[in-house]
Parts: sequence; structure tokens; C-alpha cells
Amino acid sequence: RPLEDKQADLPVDKLLDGLLAVGFDENSCLSRYQSVLFRKASPHKPSKYLLEKLRKYEMLHKKCGPNTESYSKTLEQLKNGQNSGSTDCNYIVWIAFSGLGNRIVTLASVFLYALLTEKVLLIDRGTDMAHLFCEPFPESSWLLPMDFPLIDQFKSFDIKSPKSFGNMLKNDILDDSMSNVSVKPLPVFSYLHLAHDYGDYDKLFFCEQDQLLLQRIPWLILRSDNYFVPSLFLIPMFEQELAKLFPQKDTVFHHLGRYLFHPSNPVWGLITRYYQAYLAKADERIGVQIRVFEVESGPFQHVLDQILGCSLHEKLLPGVTSQVPEMNIIGNAKTKAVLLTSLSPGYYEKIRDMYWEQPTVNGEIISVFQPSYEGYQQTGKQMHNMKAWAEMYLLSLTDTLITSPWSTFGYVAQGLAGLKPWIMFKPENRTTPDPPCRRSMSMEPCFHAPPFYDCKAKKGIDTGELVPHVRHCEDMSWGLKVV
Ligand code: GDP
Repeated sequence: RPLEDKQADLPVDKLLDGLLAVGFDENSCLSRYQSVLFRKASPHKPSKYLLEKLRKYEMLHKKCGPNTESYSKTLEQLKNGQNSGSTDCNYIVWIAFSGLGNRIVTLASVFLYALLTEKVLLIDRGTDMAHLFCEPFPESSWLLPMDFPLIDQFKSFDIKSPKSFGNMLKNDILDDSMSNVSVKPLPVFSYLHLAHDYGDYDKLFFCEQDQLLLQRIPWLILRSDNYFVPSLFLIPMFEQELAKLFPQKDTVFHHLGRYLFHPSNPVWGLITRYYQAYLAKADERIGVQIRVFEVESGPFQHVLDQILGCSLHEKLLPGVTSQVPEMNIIGNAKTKAVLLTSLSPGYYEKIRDMYWEQPTVNGEIISVFQPSYEGYQQTGKQMHNMKAWAEMYLLSLTDTLITSPWSTFGYVAQGLAGLKPWIMFKPENRTTPDPPCRRSMSMEPCFHAPPFYDCKAKKGIDTGELVPHVRHCEDMSWGLKVV
């Protein structure tokens, strides 16, 4: 398709309905303006309000980003350990943590939080963030400067940190009961522990009165591995703004993801070479994302049965037959390319062989491809993560998606694609679930560790039952997703 577009000289909307800003140097990040050549135009248009908000954010980021006067001024407060009450710029710093899919969905959540609270998002580059992604904001950087004073402490920030917001509340160092009045002096920074193992006090982050308190702290440092957007929808103070930003509620990741995450040039090379070599010519592309959370690496028969059961039952792929096909349809047969991703090569080999050894019932030609089989998760290794990112992105260029339960890797693909995948259910006792999969309610990721707390009544509550647009996920009964 990319070539055809060029040949036909079709006008392509490289700014994705105004989502992307103009004025970036195109060569430094080819993917930003070339994605349109590989992905169909999205049927989901961003709201005008979201576009204005992004342009305003870009101005704020430029004013407050690294190497600006405002940045130095706010940094001075941090160095002196003094929260002097008012600052032009307030920051949320994201700590690189967990697998790449988790990082991507978390970052989208943090960026939405920054938009809602007018904070500036800076990211800890970890081992490879700078090599995987382009800069998303014009004329500035989102990378936290290496000489940031707290950088050496990031490693020690965890559930036990005395400096965490939750522990400061628990130990009465912070008081959230009268958020607007300064009862106790406020710290200049607070560590927000929002990782999957977080405690009840950390979860107060999702209460309005705590948000009012956090608004008065210029530096927030956050560690999370979760897509916490669904719970932001349940904080009353953000309700109106979210409704204006996202009139179609389940497009949060779709828009913010396409706005923020542009593969770096080396990753873009992996994506485009692969796409053109193996996927471009097929009539249709199907992505199958396989992620198995077992100690042994597999392949497992029950997972293979589940993938085939889902594909055949939902008519996403044709069955095979032992009969000789009736008509001679060579030449006009429809071709479908299956892009399979998995840490192990076993599923790919079996499905590829199945379509080689026998003809399909409807004459369709099925080709099966898998870019890599890395064996096991190797977070921290550069080429490994580049391939993981390339594969998530390649999956997002397909027309139909089958994804695995509990996997942010699949969520990223579906969200960027703007597709509701067929999501497989989680097998219990190594048995193929029946039915094997179902169509997802929305293209949004699932929040795996949401709080179940009613901030006003101060008691437990099922947060999946409060509003029609925040529900429990298909693949995780206690998770929450926006629909
Ligand atoms: P999740 O654990 O499925 O939610 O996804 P994450 O991306 O957060 O973590 C899984 C990590 O394992 C990825 O980032 C990769 O490092 C690796 N991984 C898992 N599945 C695949 C795959 O299909 N292809 C590649 N290249 N890497 C994978």
C-alpha cells in the first residue's frame, strides 16, 4: 500500500486529523509522518477540544521543559527542599519500569493525567527509552535530564519508601482531610507508588481530595506498570474535562497513543522492512498475539487449540480440508497474511504447517509469519525491546486482531490500531476455555489493579458498577476498562 499511495499520488493526511503537530524535522523521526502510509485512516476523529488541549500542552512543555528558565526555577525548590507555594511549572516524572507494553500503557495514562492537571511530563530514560521512541513534543524534550537530583533514588522508590504519598498519609506527615488549607507543610516532591503491588494509602491517589493536595506539590515522581485511565474517569473533578476531550470515551489510548509513541528510525526500519517484505501484498492481514503466562516456555497444546478454535469459530481464518479443492482457483485466490507474535516459535510452526499440508476449505491462501522468537522476556536489552516495539506496531497495522488475555503487549497493538480485538480468555488448569475468545467491548487497555474504594463513603465498593462507561474487563474480572 505505501507504494500505491505514492503512485496514485493520493493526498494523505499525515497529521492524523490534526493529532500531530507540524514543524518537526521529518528525517529525525520518519515514523511520525509516514505512519499514514501503512495504517488505514482512523474512523475515530479526535475532538477539537483534544487538539486544542494538545497544542496548549506543547506550549507549556516548551516553556517548562529541560533547559528552560522555568525548569531551573522549579528545580531550585527541589534542591532547597522548599515548597514555596506557587510555581509556573509543575512536573510529573515517570520512572521507567516493567515490560515495554506496560511502560507504553502507563505512559499514556500519565500523559492524560498531565493534561488533566496541567503538569509537565518528563520521562526517566531507563536503559533504552531514548532509542525506542522519538520525541513527542515539538522544540523540546520529554527526557528527564541526567543530572536530575533525585535520579539516583529512583531505584529505591517502592511500596516501602517513607517519601511516598501513601506512606506520608499513613504516617500523618501529610493530611488530606482539609486539602485546600495548609494544615501541615507540604513537601516539594512526592513519590507516587501506583505499581500493581500498591497499598490502600497509595490508592488514595484516585480520590478527589488527595488530588487537590497533590496539585500543590510541584514535583511528582511516579512508578506504575498499569493503565490507570479508567479510574481517572471516576474522579469527579476530571469528569467534565474528560467528556470534552473524549466524546467517544473509548478512544483515549487510540488518540494519545498515536500522538505520543513514534518508533525511532531504527525501529521504524524494522517495521517497514518487515511490512513490505511479508505483509503488504496480502489482500488481508490478521494479527495473532500470543502471550502465555506460564513458567515453562511452551508451546502448549491447549493454547494452540484455543487460537485455532477462536480463529475458526469466529471465521477469522478458514479451516483446512483433506479433500482436493474443486475448482482451479489458482491465480484469483484471496490471500491472507497472518502475523503471529510470540516468545516461542512453536505455535507459528504448527499453524504454518497446517496451511501448507492441507488446502483451505474456501481456497484462500494463508501465509503465516512471525518476526522473532526471543524465548523469554529480556527487558533492558536494546535489540530485544526494539523487536518487541516493532512487533506491537506491526500487529497494529493488521485488519483484524486476536489477542491474549492479561497482556499489555496486545493492548498496545489494539489501541494503536483502533481495533476491537477478539480476546482470548485465560485458560485455567491448562484447559482450553469454552468459548475460547470473545469480541472485546472496546479498543481500550484494561487497568489490571484498580482501587475498589468509595472516597466519600470511605468504604469498599465495586468501581466497575458506578458508571456505564467504566466496566470490568473481558480478560480479567477485577480489571477495569473504558468502553
Ligand atoms: P505483557 O507482559 O504481556 O503485559 O507485555 P510487556 O510488553 O509489558 O512485557 C512483555 C515483554 O516480553 C515484552 O516487552 C517483550 O520484552 C517480551 N515479549 C513478550 N511477548 C513478545 C513477543 O511476542 N515478541 C517479542 N519480541 N517480545 C515479546
